[in-house]
Amino acid sequence: MGRLIHGIAEEGTIRVIASDSTDIVAEAVRRHKTAPTASAALGRVLTGTLLLGASFKDFDRLTVKIESEGEIGGIVAEADANGNVRGYAKNPSAEVPAKQNGKFDVRGIVGEGMFYVIRESGFDIGLHRDPYVGSVPIVSGEIAEDFAYYLARSEQIPSAVLLGVLLNNSAPYVRAAGGVMIQMLPGADERVIKAVEAAVEKAPHLTTSLTEGATAEDLLEISMGGIEFEVLHERETAFKCNCSHERALGLVSALGEEEVRAMLEEDDGAKLDCGFCNETYELSPDDLRRMLRKGTTD
Ligand code: ZN
Repeated sequence: MGRLIHGIAEEGTIRVIASDSTDIVAEAVRRHKTAPTASAALGRVLTGTLLLGASFKDFDRLTVKIESEGEIGGIVAEADANGNVRGYAKNPSAEVPAKQNGKFDVRGIVGEGMFYVIRESGFDIGLHRDPYVGSVPIVSGEIAEDFAYYLARSEQIPSAVLLGVLLNNSAPYVRAAGGVMIQMLPGADERVIKAVEAAVEKAPHLTTSLTEGATAEDLLEISMGGIEFEVLHERETAFKCNCSHERALGLVSALGEEEVRAMLEEDDGAKLDCGFCNETYELSPDDLRRMLRKGTTD
């Protein structure tokens, strides 16, 4: 479980969001067995997606998709309105040596490409609205700057975004992860914006604070300097996928009778991996036989 808080400052002209996402990133890394630099990249995207989700009122599903030419190939994270997030890196073993200052060279595995935000709403109540899709080129590859650039360019919300992942050399690999998003809404005072920018610039690393026991509120306090804020909502967050054995059965059934018969005769069953959470579903010969008796759904 992680925790996410959401609040305002300066009479609602500034929106503040923060999260301790250590458990979420740990679960993602455990499931996908990502190499260290890929872990940092995926962890930043998962955390940023949760923070971004907290700034929209109306959505069922928010997807952040990075398509890149770097070794990692791409990263996808998907959050729902209840604080659940899931995601993966296309190439979990993407790795380059750390930078001279010891930090992960996330830019080194992301490279150039596009940053997409897809917001879907209404399908829970049967509305088939077109999803909202926003996109910007990747300007940094370090992820936090890319979220900030997206918000400024596509949503017209100048923002400060901090995302951090700190790893250990052995299990448990994720020592700390968290993020802060400060959005300057219409009417925000220019002096306050400057003050926030200066405070963010001077703030110690989020992950250092987290390892010293900082909460999401503490992360905001550190990032906001002396500017007061009020927390309006808080929620638990989790790395959670919506795949299941039932869904795996449905997917295989949809392949049609011929395909299912071939799986039964040639492979004596079927095996499916969920891309989002790396869970494996094994369908037994009996599962397939039952499917054939009931009739496939094609
Ligand atoms: Zn899954």
